[in-house]
Amino acid sequence: MNGKKALEITEILEKTYPNAKPALTYGSVFELLVAVILSAQCTDERVNKVTDVLFKRANTPQEMAKMNIEELEKYIFSCGLYHSKAEHIISASKDIVEKFNGEVPSDLENLRSLAGVGRKTANVVYSVGFNGNAIAVDTHVFRVAGRIGLSKGKNPLATEKDLMKRIPENEWSKMHHCLIWHGRKVCSARKPNCKGCSISSLCEYKNKEL
Ligand code: SF4
Repeated sequence: MNGKKALEITEILEKTYPNAKPALTYGSVFELLVAVILSAQCTDERVNKVTDVLFKRANTPQEMAKMNIEELEKYIFSCGLYHSKAEHIISASKDIVEKFNGEVPSDLENLRSLAGVGRKTANVVYSVGFNGNAIAVDTHVFRVAGRIGLSKGKNPLATEKDLMKRIPENEWSKMHHCLIWHGRKVCSARKPNCKGCSISSLCEYKNKEL
């Protein structure tokens, strides 16, 4: 797909979803980091219910680093993958306390260096928590970008690189949210609603039903 078409799609999606933003509830960058770790393969609604209780018990890296893994698992059990998520939250909290003076680092390289924090999580925290330019590729972004033709990447990293090439840098974060919202509301995994899609004339999906 050429850059002109990618730009047109960017403009239309940003008009379609002017308020696209994460549905996660958080009061600090550290809370955001924990919520994003918990959101893997879990709905934002479920994460918000869990963090509403969890953050009353612990909502700083210092408190979380001291938490016993079994106790944390009980709080986050309903988010799924609770054992690895608990390990990641505690490891990242320890790294923040020990290597970054208790503050979540504000640059991508150091965010990605935190134990238990993958590339996608770091990108979300960087763009949402620090207003940085980054595209986090989750299951929605991967699927929707592939269908539209913005990327032919076979994995999230390849998709991220394609999107970074085709979308202007100052639009990366907004487009990340737009692609997620489009994937949730219109271009669903099971049955995309191509008839009701604002970018159907530009989309390159082979099985479009119009
Ligand atoms: S036209 Fe269909 S496949 Fe393409 S983005 Fe819209 S809903 Fe998704």
